[in-house]
Parts: sequence; structure tokens; C-alpha cells
Amino acid sequence: MIPEQFTFKYLKARVSIAAVLQDKGINTAFTKRADQLFGPCPVHGGDNPNAFVINLSKNIWHCFTQCNAGGDVVKLVRRLDSKTYRQTALYLASLANIPKASSLVHQTHMKKTFRPFTKSLTLNASTPWLAKKGITSLTAKRFEAGAYDAPGFLNGCIGVRLHDLQGHPIGYAGRRLHPKQVQLYGKWKLPPALPKSALLYNFHRVSPYTHKALVIVEGPWAVMRLAQLNIPAVALLGIHLSPTQRDLLPTLQRVILMLDGDCAGRRATTRIRNALEPNTKVHTINLPLDHDPDDLTDDQLSSITKHLFL
Ligand SMILES: [Zn+2]
Repeated sequence: MIPEQFTFKYLKARVSIAAVLQDKGINTAFTKRADQLFGPCPVHGGDNPNAFVINLSKNIWHCFTQCNAGGDVVKLVRRLDSKTYRQTALYLASLANIPKASSLVHQTHMKKTFRPFTKSLTLNASTPWLAKKGITSLTAKRFEAGAYDAPGFLNGCIGVRLHDLQGHPIGYAGRRLHPKQVQLYGKWKLPPALPKSALLYNFHRVSPYTHKALVIVEGPWAVMRLAQLNIPAVALLGIHLSPTQRDLLPTLQRVILMLDGDCAGRRATTRIRNALEPNTKVHTINLPLDHDPDDLTDDQLSSITKHLFL
């Protein structure tokens, strides 16, 4: 039996969508018209200021562009953080000022419903797609990345193996290649119920306990490119830094934030810097507009980052 203060009925009546956005630091660009707030969509991360509409009295949201979806505050939290229902309830309870809830959120590191896939798949590390990104087949092999042509979850994708924080394999992420698929579903295909907010891609290879500084990027390709230059990096697999992820970094003296050079990446940079400071010294690197770290040359990458490790 769930205590009443953790039921969605109770929480939906007490936690506004605006409170969730404020908690995540994504309320800055919203404008109010009558009973509605308008702003860029925090779910898909676009920059259209009218894409995302919140109805304040009904406490519901809708994205009229890429997501073309909406719902209540529960659905928003699940979309933003890919949390389980249990984690969502705990998170909303923490915003409703229900005592003890926030510490419980931190304890919930692994999703109960997530089933790790530990089988090893054969991927083609010598695929031209990775070579074009500047990732050698040696690096791709080391990171267990490559093209997958057999039927299954990764079919038609470039696969990358995922690990938990201790380095146990938990499955694969797939980078969709077909433009139509990318447009419909986004670039990345992640395992169902993956506890993204409790993971940091590559964390087990570059533990902050052995490095004074780490580069934080959005995706695995940038991690691999930096690894080729002996620069330790972890990826968020997106643009959100969860409290769990934040708690993994306090032993670091320095963090170098190098997110994608698009509007979503820029906004996330500010948000994440605010979340990490003042406990951690944060250097931010703003890439040229529409450039991702893996679009840069090796020389550009090392000139941006190497002086930060002196
Ligand atoms: Zn959207």
C-alpha cells in the first residue's frame, strides 16, 4: 500500500509543472500569456519559443513541434529524466516538501524495472560512419562500438556498449542512421527503462578518483575522440545532469563542460554549471554554433582542453 503523500493523485495536485522546470533550472525563457506559459520545449530541446505550452490552472503541458505530445506533471518528469514511476513519485514528493523524500531519491540509483542486457554483440568497428567522425577502429573496438546489421534492437544503428558505474555491461545504445528515423524518434535509441540519470557514460574507465579534472560531454563519440587524445571524459547521454550524477563528481577539482554548440547545449551548460558550482570548479567551452565536439579536428580539441589539465 502506497502512503497517500506518494500517490500521483496527491502529488499532481501539489506540484506544478512550473515548479519542476524551476527545479531543473529551465524556466528562464518562458513567457506568460493569460493562463499559459510559452517557451522552448525542454523535452526535445529545441529553441522555438512557442513550442512548449503549459496550462497553469490545469497543470498540463504540450509540445506542438517535435514531440507533438503532452500530459501532466508526472509525464513531464518521466520524459525529462526517464525516471521510473517510483523515482518520479519520490522526486515529486521532494518538490512537495514531503520530508525524507529527497534523500530517498538519491538512494534510488538503479531502476527496478530495468533489465540489464549482458550478452556481447558483434559490431563492425571499421564502419565508415565512425571513421568519418574521426574515431579509429582501434578506439571503436576498445569502446565496443560499431555497425550492427543483424536483426534486433540495434538493427540499422551504430551500437555502443553501455556499462554501469562499476563497469558491468548493461546493454547497448544505438545511434540511428536513417534520417527519417532520426527525425521521428531522435538520434539515440536507448534500452527500455535505462536508468540514464544514474549513469555517466565512460565513468568506470575514468574514475574521478584518479583524475583531477574531467571533461563532460553529451555523447559517446566525443568521449571516444577525447580518449584518442588521452583526455578523460564522461558523457551525460543527453543534456541533463541529475542529482545522482552530480553527486558522483564532488571529488573533482575541475570539470570542463563541453556540450554541443546548439541552443539546447548552451542552455544546459549554464544550468549544469550552476548545479556544480561552487563545490566544483567549472570551465565551460562554448563550441561554434552547430558544432559538436566530434566535428572538431584533433588539434582543435587538444588546444581547447589540454591547458586545463596542466
Ligand atoms: Zn518537444
